[in-house]
Amino acid sequence: MEIVCLDLEGVLVPEIWINFAKKTGIKALEATTRDIPDYDVLMKQRLAILREHNLGLPDIQAVIAEMGPLEGAFEFVAWVREHFQLIILSDTFYEFADPLMKQLNRPTIFCHKLETDEKGMITNYVLRQPDQKRAAVQALHGLNYRVIAAGDSYNDIAMLGEANKGILFDAPDNVIREFPHFPVTKTYEALKTEIISGSLRNIPR
Ligand SMILES: [Mg+2]
Repeated sequence: MEIVCLDLEGVLVPEIWINFAKKTGIKALEATTRDIPDYDVLMKQRLAILREHNLGLPDIQAVIAEMGPLEGAFEFVAWVREHFQLIILSDTFYEFADPLMKQLNRPTIFCHKLETDEKGMITNYVLRQPDQKRAAVQALHGLNYRVIAAGDSYNDIAMLGEANKGILFDAPDNVIREFPHFPVTKTYEALKTEIISGSLRNIPR
């Protein structure tokens, strides 16, 4: 029994914060963990900026809905679900992912959540559990599933290492260099090939 686990941002949809910053023109929201390594400091700054611009969750969701999935992602997700059960393991928030998950026909997703006040302003974020991508794959192993996983960045490495087969998809060069033991893919066709070779079954393309 096999399950495919996929990262969301950078694999099926654009990087949400970066694209949200571009779409809204709010420069200050372009900061990432590369600029501010402490995630809690970064998130509190992001939420403060949203409040400053008077952006509530519905406004933010409307902008995110316009991003849409990456080209070919819809068809790729449909292919995976034709042959495997699929779980998206993401470090985004349910409320942000929702408009995009709708456009992907709502595969199962495990991520984090946001808290809002009665006006729809985001007041806080809640991480569901630490190191959640690795924990999810470990839990699936405990349920006797083989796991094939793909992701694009540092926050996926524990998941890829824990999986029976881990695959890098469209990863930046520094990630590819640091973790050379994972197969590298750049297109959904190449990712399909690696998923098929990671499966114990005979999966048609
Ligand atoms: Mg990613």
